[in-house]
Amino acid sequence: MKKTVVNLRNARKGEYRKVIEEILARGKCPFCPENFKYHKKPILRSQGQWFLTENSWPYTNTRCHLILICKTHKERFSELTRTDFKNVVNLTNWAIEKYKISGGAVFVRFGNTNFTGASVAHLHFQIVVPKPKRNKKGTERVTVPVGG
Ligand SMILES: [Zn+2]
Repeated sequence: MKKTVVNLRNARKGEYRKVIEEILARGKCPFCPENFKYHKKPILRSQGQWFLTENSWPYTNTRCHLILICKTHKERFSELTRTDFKNVVNLTNWAIEKYKISGGAVFVRFGNTNFTGASVAHLHFQIVVPKPKRNKKGTERVTVPVGG
């Protein structure tokens, strides 16, 4: 069975979808180092097999949307090691300091993209911080799709 590295059904509209379509046509994983040219943002910091960067296409209502990507291709949660988690935690804590994050969410989708709603199967953690409401207390709501 051919492995699905990119799930077009889960890609959002616009430029992001075009990029995912191009990647799909080439049959390559966009998060593996040899194909990472599609990414537009600088790498902010790395540790071990992981690096931190901004999402090129942040979710609506985010003040900050960062992604932590593994330098080796992993799709299953069971492939993550204690060292992976240590590196992810350290990079996340660095981001919390750097971006003065008071609160947000860290999440990772894993496995079959038909269930996760992810467009890229290569494991990546996401740090999502909602933007404050204009002239009001609180923040805007950020919706993170899973499945569907
Ligand atoms: Zn990959």
